[in-house]
Amino acid sequence: MKKTRIVILGAGYGGLMTVTRLQKQLNSDEAEIVIINKNEYHYETTWLHEASAGTLHHDRVRYDVTKVLNRNKVQFIQGEVLEVKAKENKVVLKDQEVSFDYLVIALGANAETFGIKGLDKYGYAITNVNAARRIREHIEYQFATYHTEEEKKDGRLTIVVAGAGFTGIEFLGELTNRIPELCKDYDIDQSKVRIVCVEASPAILPQFDRELVDYAVSLLESRGVEFHVGTAVQEAREDCVFIGKRGETPKELKANTLIWSAGVRGNAVIDNSGFENMRGRVKVNLDLRMPAFNNIFVIGDCSMIINEETNRPYPPTAQIAMQQGEVCARNIAKLIQGKTNLENFVFDDKGTVCSLGEDDAIGIVYGKKIKGTAASVMKKVVDDRALFMIGGTSLLLKKGKFNFF
Ligand code: FAD
Ligand code: NAD
Repeated sequence: MKKTRIVILGAGYGGLMTVTRLQKQLNSDEAEIVIINKNEYHYETTWLHEASAGTLHHDRVRYDVTKVLNRNKVQFIQGEVLEVKAKENKVVLKDQEVSFDYLVIALGANAETFGIKGLDKYGYAITNVNAARRIREHIEYQFATYHTEEEKKDGRLTIVVAGAGFTGIEFLGELTNRIPELCKDYDIDQSKVRIVCVEASPAILPQFDRELVDYAVSLLESRGVEFHVGTAVQEAREDCVFIGKRGETPKELKANTLIWSAGVRGNAVIDNSGFENMRGRVKVNLDLRMPAFNNIFVIGDCSMIINEETNRPYPPTAQIAMQQGEVCARNIAKLIQGKTNLENFVFDDKGTVCSLGEDDAIGIVYGKKIKGTAASVMKKVVDDRALFMIGGTSLLLKKGKFNFF
């Protein structure tokens, strides 16, 4: 008899939590499990700002997907998903089609560009390992050529970071630690370097506690960051960025580097598949299924659930993606075993920590405010926990962060 086939799209936080739980919960005669991912490796999206700034080697942020799979139970396909044909129970990859009985969409996010001119060409978004490598190399190239190339020299040492949300602030933390090394390596006077953070809304890290935000801003300012709040990037060109406040004529800022950390939307596959969505995110039922298809689950950054306390969507985070993966696996196991009492997803908020480089951070953990070394240690504990949850002790020992102080 043909076995029920569960197909999981994406080997990020949500996809790997789902598959590692399913391989424990189901016997090999109960279902065939397939996971599809663009690369043969998983990357820690939450560490990409470090690889982008060059403070952590890109190989440290990734590991082979198969390392955490039970190959007797799970088949891995390396391939790029183009579209889901939901009515036909098929997934279209670049070079083949894969059919499913149950599908989990966990393809993560794409950068939100709001249609701003020039961003597709000149904005560097922190989205995956290769994008992070490109950012690191681009910045290093600017320093390496400062003394040797006259062309576009004005903006060579100016880096604009668009968006002072978590990604922008965490990147600035790493970048400001990296700049002194780059200046030393390429004989550059550090006073020639300009780092400008442009935030469109009136506040930096608007979701966070004010006292902690002030701590972060003062620290980054002391390391040379200029903040321009209430100011949006309006156009990007190869050697300059146009920025301005609402209603004002945008000003030209000479800069060869624009880091685009101004928000995310769900993966383009959601749009390409014709699913109803808001900014690429599918509003799912509490059991994590798509309202229109009861054999399709959507989790992580491609999904949206409203937080009833605030009446706003939960933010797309790894913490939520991982918790959803656990619920999703239990619900699929129940369906396979003929049970109908599916579990609802309830977010267990353990807190948030925002790093400010290797050695500093701010955070709220279990309701308690933390900053400085304590917060920085906690950030590494959180990073290590994700490795442990997915790959157990062996993965933690191979890839974990143990430089606590
Ligand atoms: P991901 O973990 O991004 O995984 C998606 C996977 O799908 C990837 O492996 C990708 O290669 C694959 N994929 C994508 N498209 C295709 C395709 N077409 N075909 C095949 N495979 C594909 N959240 C926190 O909770 N805490 C943090 O500290 C934190 N820090 C962050 C720092 C940075 C710099 C960034 C950018 C984000 C951070 N986030 C953090 C947010 C968090 O990373 C995301 O919410 C989380 O990764 C979402 O998990 P996911 O499983 O939906 O997607
Ligand atoms: P975000 O949406 O949280 O922040 C983007 C910021 O960019 C916003 O403040 C927005 O006002 C600003 N912006 C938008 N358009 C702009 C423009 N044209 N010019 C200048 N600024 C502009 O996005 P993010 O920081 O990429 O975070 C994405 C998700 O990942 C969030 O859910 C976040 O919580 C999560 N994340 C978490 C952590 C952590 O927990 N440590 C770290 C990184 C990301």
